[in-house]
Amino acid sequence: GDVGSQMDRVVTEQEWRQKWETGNTGFHKEQGHPLLRKYLDVLSNCRSGLRIFFPLCGKAVEMKWLADMGHSVVGVEVSEQAVKEFFAEHNLPYSEEAVPEISGAKMLQSTSGNISLYCCSIYDLSSSIVGKFDGVWDRGALVAVNPCDRQRYVSLMITLMEKNSSYLLVTVSYDPNKHKGPPFYVPESEIKSLFG
Ligand code: SAH
Repeated sequence: GDVGSQMDRVVTEQEWRQKWETGNTGFHKEQGHPLLRKYLDVLSNCRSGLRIFFPLCGKAVEMKWLADMGHSVVGVEVSEQAVKEFFAEHNLPYSEEAVPEISGAKMLQSTSGNISLYCCSIYDLSSSIVGKFDGVWDRGALVAVNPCDRQRYVSLMITLMEKNSSYLLVTVSYDPNKHKGPPFYVPESEIKSLFG
């Protein structure tokens, strides 16, 4: 299909926060994603105690799931409401601290220490702030990024990955002339050129 119709679309961070405020969050799923279940061994390489990154995390239930398996989870999300709902809905006590490197950002961390969620834009992060990761779960992230920011997003993600890491990416396939997105249609050829 012709993806040209979506290329100029921009959803601002403010609009994302409003989606959370108005409950316009149909992308959130209460059940863990079947593809994460299916490809768990690809993500973890059968190792435990990994650092797993959730870009544009929302309140994805898979974060709790991977933490319960013994991994350490880091997420980033522009909506503080989403992050607070995550901790509340899983009955997880947390503490809140400022992130000195990013003005206005907060990091909310489960008291057990294994889930750390940054409230800021992903573009504010760098490996000097969050370190590098053994695994990435990208569902509703690349496809939610504004089309004009895709290269910037992927270049950043690559800098956050350890040498022996795995990146699980979920995309959606549909006719981009029929829906404006997000989620945006990212053709496989573009994924190949973005990630190299
Ligand atoms: N990955 C989650 C959420 C997908 S929806 C899931 O699977 O449920 C995309 C999320 O990204 C929204 O919660 C939105 O608030 C957040 N978001 C959008 N732009 C962002 C940015 N630049 N940095 C961090 N989070 C962002």
